[in-house]
Amino acid sequence: MTNVYNNILELIGNTPMVRLNKITQELPSAVFAKLESMNPGHSTKDRIALHIIENAERKGLLKPGSIIVETTSGNTGFSVAMVSIIKGYKCILSVSDKTKPEKIAYLKALGAEVYVCPANVPAEDPRSYYEVAKSIAARTPGSIYINQYFNELNIDAHYQTTGPEIWEQTEGKITHLFACTGTGGTLSGSAKYLKEKNPDVKIIGVDADGSILKGYFDTGKINKDEIKPYQIEGMGKNLIPGALLFDKVDSFVRVNDEMAAYRTREIAIKEAIMGGYTTGAVTQGLLQYAKEYPFKKEDVVVLIFPDHGSRYISKVYSDEWMAQQGFTHNCVHNYEEVFKT
Ligand code: PMP
Repeated sequence: MTNVYNNILELIGNTPMVRLNKITQELPSAVFAKLESMNPGHSTKDRIALHIIENAERKGLLKPGSIIVETTSGNTGFSVAMVSIIKGYKCILSVSDKTKPEKIAYLKALGAEVYVCPANVPAEDPRSYYEVAKSIAARTPGSIYINQYFNELNIDAHYQTTGPEIWEQTEGKITHLFACTGTGGTLSGSAKYLKEKNPDVKIIGVDADGSILKGYFDTGKINKDEIKPYQIEGMGKNLIPGALLFDKVDSFVRVNDEMAAYRTREIAIKEAIMGGYTTGAVTQGLLQYAKEYPFKKEDVVVLIFPDHGSRYISKVYSDEWMAQQGFTHNCVHNYEEVFKT
């Protein structure tokens, strides 16, 4: 039988790339998006959940019914829950009480046990979602804590899969890779592989306005004044993740909530690709970079589109939400005007 699988986990990875035709038409080079939404859990995080859990299995750390713990309400939680079901483990996620009920329902639908913890306590407080996760893992023999921000297997998952896929899909012609950085795992692991193949491949990280990662890359220092709340979920950070290999990055671009939101909607309208908020962010990052460093005709540019837009229907795809943010352009009908200004 062909194209038939034993279980959903066999569908992880080997995601397709699609050429962007309209949104990048002003650029001379070819631009391809790697669609991580085509993973069965609809995001790039399926790769790290599978890799980290299988690594623990190989080390003999897990038995049937073991507990897998992580601190996230986002894509990683969903992926860990998915892998746990197929492999027969119990998934426990600790999330902040700012998490929307629909997200918690989403995680519970995939069998996760969800602990809701106060958001307004310091990370070291025993009630914080970091400490709750850590203490569950420490108290429970045979459990593992995924710890994606500080787990080098996060980088390794992308070094083993995402990087080689990009190299093969572009037949080694890639010249530039753009990815949003949250934990940094996607960018770092892919970059490590691609730079081994060709040290001239340029690696560009995309950071959020309100995060310290670009500032740290530029100056080597954490500038606390740069920290402010922002809306884009899954990228940017107020600490330096251990999974971000700054020495593999050539530049960072910083994008704001508003432009990333417009771009997300624009990609849906122009390319019929409904991506998450960071899909718009990485595309906005590319277009900002291209103004400063123009591309050549022969360049082959790859963007990582991390997840699917269905998780953002009440956010970036909602005209009401956009208006509440003060993003006042009529997103659906008025793109030409928005992007002229
Ligand atoms: N976009 C989204 C929607 C994400 O959930 C994440 C992961 N936090 C990223 C981008 C960034 O990926 P990474 O953690 O590998 O840097």
